Amino acid sequence: MKGIFVMSEKTPNEFKGFDTTIIYDYTEYPDIVSGRCDNCGNAHFKSTVKDFIFIRECRNCGMKKSI
Ligand SMILES: [Zn+2]
Repeated sequence: MKGIFVMSEKTPNEFKGFDTTIIYDYTEYPDIVSGRCDNCGNAHFKSTVKDFIFIRECRNCGMKKSI
């Protein structure tokens, strides 16, 4: 039982595993903490409007959500 290497400390960041390449829908994924990123907890966002849909992008991890 000796010598088993556990990879759990190798986590590169504290992200929760949301896919930052897709845009989440706010109605399906409302903020866990209002005004904060679900993925990393950051409160700074970049806002863009695409096809009349408001996209909120996290400045830290890049997670996107349509509101
Ligand atoms: Zn984030």
